[in-house]
Amino acid sequence: MALQPGDLVSIPLGKRETVGCVWDTTSTVPADFATAPGREVPLSRLRPVAEKLDVRPLPGSLRRFIDWVAAYTLTPPGLVLAMATRIHLKDAPKPALGWVRTEQPEEGLRITPARRSVLNAASDVPMTTADLAAASGASSAVIRGLAAAGLLREAVISVAAPFATPDPTHGAPQLSEEQADVAEQLCRPVKEQRFDVTLLEGVTGSGKTEVYFEAVAACLAQGKQVLVLLPEIALSAQWTDRFIRRFGADPAVWHSDLGTKRRRETWRAVADGTARVVVGARSALFLPFEDLGLVVVDEEHESAFKQEEGVMYHGRDMAVVRARLANAPAILVSATPSLETLANVESGRYHHELLTARHGGATMPDVSLVDMRADPPERGLFLSPVLCNAIDETLKNEEQAMLFLNRRGYAPLTLCRACGHRMQCPNCSTWLVEHRARGILTCHHCGHTESIPSDCPQCHAEHSLVPIGPGIERITEEAKLRFPDAKILVMSSDTLGSPAATAEAVRKITDGEINLIIGTQIVAKGWHFPKLTLVGVVDADLGLGGGDLRAAERTVQLLHQVAGRAGRAERPGRVLLQSYVGEHPVMTALVSNDFQTFMEQEAEQRRPSFWPPYGRLAALIISAATADAADALAREIAFAAPEREGVQVLGPAPAPLAVLRGRHRRRLLLRTMRGIAVQPILRDWLKDIKPTGSARIDIDIDPISFL
Ligand code: ADP
Ligand code: ZN
Repeated sequence: MALQPGDLVSIPLGKRETVGCVWDTTSTVPADFATAPGREVPLSRLRPVAEKLDVRPLPGSLRRFIDWVAAYTLTPPGLVLAMATRIHLKDAPKPALGWVRTEQPEEGLRITPARRSVLNAASDVPMTTADLAAASGASSAVIRGLAAAGLLREAVISVAAPFATPDPTHGAPQLSEEQADVAEQLCRPVKEQRFDVTLLEGVTGSGKTEVYFEAVAACLAQGKQVLVLLPEIALSAQWTDRFIRRFGADPAVWHSDLGTKRRRETWRAVADGTARVVVGARSALFLPFEDLGLVVVDEEHESAFKQEEGVMYHGRDMAVVRARLANAPAILVSATPSLETLANVESGRYHHELLTARHGGATMPDVSLVDMRADPPERGLFLSPVLCNAIDETLKNEEQAMLFLNRRGYAPLTLCRACGHRMQCPNCSTWLVEHRARGILTCHHCGHTESIPSDCPQCHAEHSLVPIGPGIERITEEAKLRFPDAKILVMSSDTLGSPAATAEAVRKITDGEINLIIGTQIVAKGWHFPKLTLVGVVDADLGLGGGDLRAAERTVQLLHQVAGRAGRAERPGRVLLQSYVGEHPVMTALVSNDFQTFMEQEAEQRRPSFWPPYGRLAALIISAATADAADALAREIAFAAPEREGVQVLGPAPAPLAVLRGRHRRRLLLRTMRGIAVQPILRDWLKDIKPTGSARIDIDIDPISFL
């Protein structure tokens, strides 16, 4: 069998067959195999490849990327490869065949009227048996007879490529002077076809998308492919509309909800280069680009780029690696860049381009605080009089308002008024969240669901359970009572299940069928709603608790992003933040619109003790079916902890989610000075530790979640 590196093959593995990839031609055993003594496989035990699959070989840049991700995240390379090939390549679609007329003369064959009409209908464009039968009125037996006689021959019906080619000149905008300057900087490394990273920072509504589209256009003009990563697939609908307006064709969209057929089609079109621009979730990094010329990460600060299960990797960081291995430039886009990216700018590794003004003379929204201590809502309600009056005014002016609360459901906690019992998840150490519309209490971590009991399960007091605190369902209830004439739309992952539902919601808002939008973090994303002039943040303090390393940074980013939805067109916008801690640096930064000072303060807090990005961090999450088993393994790991200069181990400690899906969890953190890589330390540390029974260790390099 003639095989080359990158070929996908079907191989026997034990009793089954599975898909594998010819990784390389090499005479040395890969390091991962060599480190395990006795792992070298004797020739006698090797078995032949069963079959070469009918797909293009995985390009070298993708294979090197898979190797890189595997080594960085301490994951077996096969698991990373599986992310790139998990699309049922084996049952490749068979090409459709049709009939064409051959050159052979008709002499010597009896031409019946049925045969005559088939020969008249056939041409050199292949037609399926069904089509030819329909066109000629003859049966399929007649067609087969003519084929046997050599007058018809089978030919492949060529199907149109599934993706039209975007035109870089289609709808080019008139850029402002500032935009044009930045666009030129972004285009340069694209034209020079070299690796380079640029942070594109710009206030919300400054035209960042419009400007990086110029780099996309430059890349298309080079005949190369573009990858654009978005943090959330809900955003892809509006993004796609803008892309079509600019380039006159659809991009290829990639995310985990694509149907099997579309996935396979897209994968192949990326591999053969007919899909020129791919917009997608982080998993699009593992597509087999034939000739990648640009990678864009939009909303680069978003923690949604971090994959928290399976192979734990950060999509933004891996996008930069992907670009480097393809020798292509990367652009990281944000109104509120992450401290990680800013540190790379400061050290000179990344370039920095800035858009300072909103497009078309739109002004930045006016952000002010509602001091909830001085101006509280009525008892049992959550919207302060100041905020309600502002909404009244907005609705009177026939503009749109938005209420933001990053909490799904009706109430985050249900409490018994009689005995104080709290409704807790049986599998996790968390409270159950009430979803009143569905009549249930549910756990947002494991999905456990029960109906809302009428009596307290503890003391059996009747009708004593009360909801504590608001979720957006409860805010919606309050808003309906307070603004009975408003047309309200709720945007959360519960109501925007599919891209189609999202597109419909966006259309309603854009067409002005909605007065008041109420939503969770999904409304914070890059939406452009021209009629929206007021944003009310129901609980600006919500993200600040929990002692997470990035709690303040993340709250600033999220709230600034939400605030940025207001006043993006002619009419100026304003933002009201309901807060009990108005003097907090997060609130100061938002009100003064001064993020530089805030980020400098953040940096000063993290730098001295080597918290990221000034040091490196890895989390070890130990879990087991019982608390004892988890503790035993945690102790064993702690006992073997590395001791050396510049390396520190924190823990073990019970994880904040000490029980999750019925598993008991302990955490350790490994922190090193920036120059010391964590991977070799972890490998050495854990090499003799073999979890037994139900116990397991998960390693999270560069953790974002500390739960
Ligand atoms: P950002 O991504 O920075 O929030 P957008 O790229 O979404 O900003 O731009 C905000 C709005 O302004 C969009 O509707 C966009 O089409 C429009 N816009 C920005 N720059 C231009 C331009 N040069 N010409 C026409 N429209 C523009
Ligand atoms: Zn649970």
